[in-house]
Amino acid sequence: MWEFNYGSSTEIAALLERKSLAMSKKFGQNFLFSNEARSRIVSLLGAPSGSCVWEIGPGAGSITSLLLKSGVKLTAFEIDHGFCALLRQEAFKDEENFILVEGDALKTLFMNESRPDYICGNLPYNVGSVIIARLIENSILPSRMVFTLQKEVVERMCARPSDEQYSSFSILTQADYENTLAFCISRNCFYPKPNVDSAVVLMTKRSESLIPSELRPFFLSFIRQVFSQRRKTVRNNLSAFSRPELEKAFSSSGLSGNERAEALSFDQLISLASALEKVRQKQPEPV
Ligand code: SAM
Repeated sequence: MWEFNYGSSTEIAALLERKSLAMSKKFGQNFLFSNEARSRIVSLLGAPSGSCVWEIGPGAGSITSLLLKSGVKLTAFEIDHGFCALLRQEAFKDEENFILVEGDALKTLFMNESRPDYICGNLPYNVGSVIIARLIENSILPSRMVFTLQKEVVERMCARPSDEQYSSFSILTQADYENTLAFCISRNCFYPKPNVDSAVVLMTKRSESLIPSELRPFFLSFIRQVFSQRRKTVRNNLSAFSRPELEKAFSSSGLSGNERAEALSFDQLISLASALEKVRQKQPEPV
């Protein structure tokens, strides 16, 4: 097992220098060196020995090393070839339970046919929310996920209707999961120090999705439309539907259409989406 002091920013900096590894801003590389935060992330994930875990963005391996010590079967997805070489050729070269997938996780995650029991990652700030959205849209829905993200992103994931941060991302991430802001991590715990605050979100899978399975594809595109412009009413954001379609759907779901999407509860959104899908299906096919 690779014994490296991940708890020291000085040692991380020295390792990078020794290996001539340049940090890349474009890949959102801010390495976590707080031992307390690393351990809390792994215990929050709670993956038992032998379970299948995916880690997105292992970097130099600070969370990876703890996951491997816990005995899980780990598949890690990393874009940076320099860090991939370090992980594969040195840090975890003798690890039987370690598979590294090199490349852009936005592609490689969805080329993988296996499905994990758990997912975690200290995600790059620039694509963190996109990665989570794609996992959900592609129905990669393990029982628990734990991510470190910019604090504002976690607040959006945990927001309730009428909260300022409530958005289509809140709906998308809450449909299949209960989200909790588990703890915040000071920017001083990362090397190099980022200029944003971070938080860790725990996503626990619901026993049943809030989206009826037959409505899922329609609902996922509906929420993107209905939240597309924050200041606009539901009616104005749904301009892709005809006026008669909208009127029928509003009346059967008990809405006026003058509401803003962020004021609607999950049930109201489901009811409107379901009504719209029905009226749309009733349209005769063009001849
Ligand atoms: N897990 C490490 C830690 O906590 O110290 C590194 C976290 S750092 C915030 C984000 C990591 O994600 C970096 O290693 C970066 O190279 C990687 N990364 C960035 N964009 C990626 C992408 N599209 N696909 C896969 N990995 C990516």
